[in-house]
Amino acid sequence: MIDFELSPEIKNNRDMVHMVAEQYMRPLSHQFDENEHEKPWDFLNMMWEASRNSPVSIGGDGKKKKADQEPSAAPQRGLLAAVAIEELSWGDAGLYLSIPNPGLGGAAVAAAGTPEQRQRFLDRFKSGKPKWGAMAYTEPHCGSDTAAIQTTARRDGDSYVLNGTKIFVTSGLMAAEKSEGFVVVWATVDKSAGRAGIKAFVVENNTPGMTVVKCENKMGIRASDTAMIVFEDCRIPSDNILGSPVVQETTEGFKGAMATFDATRPAVAASAIGIGRAALDFTREALEKEGVKVRYGIARARLTAIERDFMEMEANLQAARLLTWRASWMMDQGMRNNLEASMAKAKAGLAVTQVTQKAVEILGPLGYSRQLLLEKWMRDAKINDIFEGTQQINLMVVARRILGYSSKELN
Ligand SMILES: Cc1cc2nc3c(=O)[nH]c(=O)nc-3n(C[C@H](O)[C@H](O)[C@H](O)COP(=O)(O)OP(=O)(O)OC[C@H]3O[C@@H](n4cnc5c(N)ncnc54)[C@H](O)[C@@H]3O)c2cc1C
Repeated sequence: MIDFELSPEIKNNRDMVHMVAEQYMRPLSHQFDENEHEKPWDFLNMMWEASRNSPVSIGGDGKKKKADQEPSAAPQRGLLAAVAIEELSWGDAGLYLSIPNPGLGGAAVAAAGTPEQRQRFLDRFKSGKPKWGAMAYTEPHCGSDTAAIQTTARRDGDSYVLNGTKIFVTSGLMAAEKSEGFVVVWATVDKSAGRAGIKAFVVENNTPGMTVVKCENKMGIRASDTAMIVFEDCRIPSDNILGSPVVQETTEGFKGAMATFDATRPAVAASAIGIGRAALDFTREALEKEGVKVRYGIARARLTAIERDFMEMEANLQAARLLTWRASWMMDQGMRNNLEASMAKAKAGLAVTQVTQKAVEILGPLGYSRQLLLEKWMRDAKINDIFEGTQQINLMVVARRILGYSSKELN
């Protein structure tokens, strides 16, 4: 059965999160955009307390739905998160990304970890002080081409020893040094094995040999910290490897790590839609104040140019939202959503960059002024077209899945 109606639980959660976005996030937007490396501690502490009762964590808890479970009995954590993330990003995408949370690191543990590892690494997010998780795959010479990772993990007795440099790690500073969190690091255990040699490792906060060397100065999502982390003879327990330590001839192990993106791409898409909706709502209100009302239900030929633009923006966001909900719903059902996650991410990333630019264009100087938030949303939008796989990379994943090519055959 196809059902596009959200459950009462998800709707209630959406309304509550929207209230937080409007009352607590919007008033902080300017300040933490202007002062990139400051932290809104009151807000972060409040969100940490709230999230312990209803966590908006990407990738859920990693528990698979049982085969005999009724679809209606399946937990809707992915869909709930997608809807909540849209609201939080409507409030402020940078602040949303800075909320204490298992984050991308948690999604990797949920996707590739054993039950024991999920408990060991994720249970800490239910108590104590605020904590962050992060994931580090990008390096100075590779991001899209994850198979080219140079960071090494050498087995030494009961340990792995990590060496290499990771860049652009979201929440890297908070996860690595400022909380009792962790960083999931992708490294190769055998360069000659190519993709098959790449594994994910959990590095606990403040492990000797892991150093945050700088935080980036960015165009958008400036409330979120983005760190460069160097690993120098960083020794971690051997049971911190996610998935099997065996290097198989196939790339099955690598696919396990890549499965993280099936959970994180719908989350990025949801965030993009939230920013786009913020821009659209603002533009509609600004036009209405000037006496320009968007008319629906009349012949296309009679629409004004602005009305046509407006409806196209709305349609693009709506299409992106439906793809995002579908990818999230499939994840909740325990279905493989690799194609749908990339479709949602590619569509939403493009839609939000176009919608925010068009909104600035429609409002002219009002859109360009730093007094208001529209120009900020235009800057915040672009990241959704870059991280968790760029627009081009996600379109390539879609093409591979539809045409039945491997990554070797189409890259
Ligand atoms: C604010 C921010 C936060 C980030 N957070 C994280 C994080 O938490 N963890 C992490 O590991 N990384 C993170 N990243 C890194 C991000 O995921 C990478 O920048 C992204 O994957 C692109 O990789 P790259 O930088 O190597 O660019 P490149 O791969 O060099 O891409 C440059 C351009 O070439 C295009 N391109 C590359 N290969 C192909 C191809 N085969 N076909 C067609 N076009 C291609 C790309 O689409 C892009 O347009 C973050 C980046 C930013 C800016």
